[in-house]
Amino acid sequence: MAKIRNAFESLSRQSKQLVKRGADRHLRLAVTGLSGAGKTAFITGLVHQLTSEQVGKHLPLWQVCRSDRLVGVRREMQPDLDIASFDLQGALNSLEATPPLWPASTRNISELRLAIRYRPVQGLLGKMTDSATLYLDIIDYPGEWLLDLPMLKLDFGTWCRQQSLRAEVLASSPEYPSFLKALKSIDLEAEANEQQLREVAELYRALLLDLVMNQGFYQAQPGRMLLPGDLEGTPLLTFFPILSSDVSQFERLEQSAKSSAYQVLKLRYQEYVSKVVKPFYRHHFAHFDRQLVLVDCLTALNRGRAQFDDMTAALSSVLDSFQFGKSNLLRRLFAPRIDKLLIAASKADHVTMDQQSNLLHLLGDVLKQSRHAAHFDGCQVETMAISAIRATTSGSVSEQGEMRQVIQGHALESGDLLTLFPGEVPRYLPKPDYWESRGFEFTAFRPADKPESGMQHLRLDHLLEYMLGDKMR
Ligand code: GDP
Repeated sequence: MAKIRNAFESLSRQSKQLVKRGADRHLRLAVTGLSGAGKTAFITGLVHQLTSEQVGKHLPLWQVCRSDRLVGVRREMQPDLDIASFDLQGALNSLEATPPLWPASTRNISELRLAIRYRPVQGLLGKMTDSATLYLDIIDYPGEWLLDLPMLKLDFGTWCRQQSLRAEVLASSPEYPSFLKALKSIDLEAEANEQQLREVAELYRALLLDLVMNQGFYQAQPGRMLLPGDLEGTPLLTFFPILSSDVSQFERLEQSAKSSAYQVLKLRYQEYVSKVVKPFYRHHFAHFDRQLVLVDCLTALNRGRAQFDDMTAALSSVLDSFQFGKSNLLRRLFAPRIDKLLIAASKADHVTMDQQSNLLHLLGDVLKQSRHAAHFDGCQVETMAISAIRATTSGSVSEQGEMRQVIQGHALESGDLLTLFPGEVPRYLPKPDYWESRGFEFTAFRPADKPESGMQHLRLDHLLEYMLGDKMR
């Protein structure tokens, strides 16, 4: 009798194990955004909140916390040994320094895995197991890499002509004249001179870097020139566009010998597309389940009209990668599986509480400008305004008898404690006259000194519910 009972117990243990194993889920959540959008801060803040002892208190709108079903979250070995690990410890060390510093920004693809244990409530799972695990892989990669998508369908000549349309933006950099002079000095039909091509490519890179880092623009192609990751210094990046809109010139250049400067540049462009752009989509992008795109609208507003327009155009290009419609280019490469896309305005703690809805509305208006007007086949889309690591607190002060909302935080440079109303966030895409009488100045703050109760955030719980809620019922 005891034997039969033992056999039954062992069978039931085994089936429970099987159900439990079946209950464990995997989700690959990718995080992107253009340089400075807040990817590193987001991942650091999110993991900090998830692994904090006070997780329930800090993430009240995340259903699994709200219903007291979260058992625990811990970091695990990442699954892909060929992707760099997200430097969580380095980021936390910066935030905990005295005075606190922002962690170093994303420069390459990296990943980390979390095991989130919870008690399921629904269906068979809820009946058969008392706990399940969601393995969450968070992958961080530069949004600039998505700007290369159009290169998949453009030949070198067409790409060059497209880049020449950006001459006005390129000309706003002091690096432009030297690039242009060097470009003009190349005899494109003559035998390629490797040293010369490398020098001109370096000048082009300096131009793109200046446009993005100093002039505040966002679009740059090829995207790896800004953030080369492992490609730093490789010949794959030794090309540049020939800035000309003259189709007949390109027809002539096409006839040049195989070893001509033009043909060498063309070959490098093709190699870049096939060895860099395509593999990123095939090996990484194809395996993402969900995607967060962070957008820093406030810095773009601070920079001015041309830069804000450029950000809007860049965001539209970034979103091209999430168009999985039937005729889509990516569909021909692989079967995309991203089923949820969240586009979040980051750093929402830069503005007072009464401006948060304007920020969200502005983001919606920016997205309306994009070619897709939020029409994403087979992919659910949501927008939010968040702050992963709040650097300010909000409150109100009385000014001439009227209460006014303010934020308070330490200025990034001087460390001075500032209490201010940064201004109104435009609710709609700013009209031309808006830029003349700008009613705002968003100040950069340094991270808050780590309060006793841990780092603060805005709406990460809301974000988690959208991104993971359906996987943890
Ligand atoms: P990345 O290039 O996308 O990785 O951007 P980072 O995460 O490095 O963020 C760039 C900068 O934005 C940081 O150095 C901070 O100054 C600022 N930042 C990012 N997230 C927040 C936030 O939630 N609140 C505030 N106030 N600033 C933020």
